[in-house]
Amino acid sequence: MALIVQKFGGTSVGSPERIEAVADKVLRYRAQGHQLVVVVSAMSGETDRLIGLAKAITDRPPPRELDVLLSTGEQVTIALLVMALEKRGCPARSYTGSQVHILTDSAHNKARIQEIDDARVRADLDAGRVVVVAGFQGVDAEGNITTLGRGGSDTTAVALAAALKADECQIFTDVDGVYTTDPRVVPEARRLERITFEEMLEMASLGSKVLQIRSVEFAGKYNVPLRVLSSFEEGEGTLITYEDEQMENALISGIAFNRDEAKITVLGVPDQPGIAHRLLGAVADANIEVDMIIQNIAPDDQTTDFTFTVHRNDYDRALELVRRVAGEMGAREVSGDNRIVKISLVGVGMRSHAGIASTMFEALAREGINIRMISTSEIKISVVVDEKYLELGVRALHDAFHLDQAPQSA
Ligand code: ASP
Ligand code: MG
Repeated sequence: MALIVQKFGGTSVGSPERIEAVADKVLRYRAQGHQLVVVVSAMSGETDRLIGLAKAITDRPPPRELDVLLSTGEQVTIALLVMALEKRGCPARSYTGSQVHILTDSAHNKARIQEIDDARVRADLDAGRVVVVAGFQGVDAEGNITTLGRGGSDTTAVALAAALKADECQIFTDVDGVYTTDPRVVPEARRLERITFEEMLEMASLGSKVLQIRSVEFAGKYNVPLRVLSSFEEGEGTLITYEDEQMENALISGIAFNRDEAKITVLGVPDQPGIAHRLLGAVADANIEVDMIIQNIAPDDQTTDFTFTVHRNDYDRALELVRRVAGEMGAREVSGDNRIVKISLVGVGMRSHAGIASTMFEALAREGINIRMISTSEIKISVVVDEKYLELGVRALHDAFHLDQAPQSA
């Protein structure tokens, strides 16, 4: 018998029929003798609808009141799911975040979980009940309702699993696992049986939006085995866990890509201490996140060049700001391009294998794809290319690293 925390996202509870299907699924796990805590999101579209209501009243809803409003979405689904379970003869109870006592800080709309009091949940489990908890919400020390940021139900589930020392946290969603890359781009993309927390973080932050990033960080930190699986089909899904000897023996686990990139180049910046700070500090002060940064060596010892990438949504603002600061600094020229994308190879196997980068560059060269920027970290190599090459580049790399085939075991 295992203690399992299961999370069902908005699509999985998007209608009364789907909620009934979730109840059936939960009961199948229960019939295997498991103890179950179920975390649910709001019905699909509901959180957006509530935000729309708030916006119809005011452009700037007070964050505290927005949390009071948004938390109602999940309160609806917990009650409906328990009704469906009870109708099937399964004892169950629903709890809001504040009832379970998911204590958070007071950062409304993006609160962080600090502590979970598991006494109530344990008592119910011991009494043979299924416990259904509202995702995405908590309560601060003063008793104010808080929410955890969009997609926060994943984090609720992982945090509960950590607090309860659950055997596994299962995230049921509309995809049946984590893939080597987006199957819409590469039809041969393969579902991974396992992936490490580290790799998943890279895949998630690079745009494979399967899980909320924070939930993966949390799971890694507390070593909660996390499984992504389909609400609608049977299957093993993908297990996200620590690296171990049994792991698939792959060099590369997947290819992530991000279409929301833009780059800004500043040429001829007087090369003095403090220039990077002045330029990028101004960007950071404007709350614009910078991803890749490249500074050239100064060929003449006088001036240097910078190129960095930002989110496409921030491009216009960043460009205007950089033009101003660069002007003040006496830089020669500022240019930008918002039709670029980033493609990244991710894999813990890179640590122990040379030659991955050259295979990558070779594959791109064969397709005539010009690489505009390169950056590497321990388990990732990223390139920036023109957006028209995204699909071609991802397919070429998927092919070059044979990601359509399961790796041979050691
Ligand atoms: N209902 C919230 C949202 O739509 C939380 C979640 O779905 O995880 O973002
Ligand atoms: Mg969601």
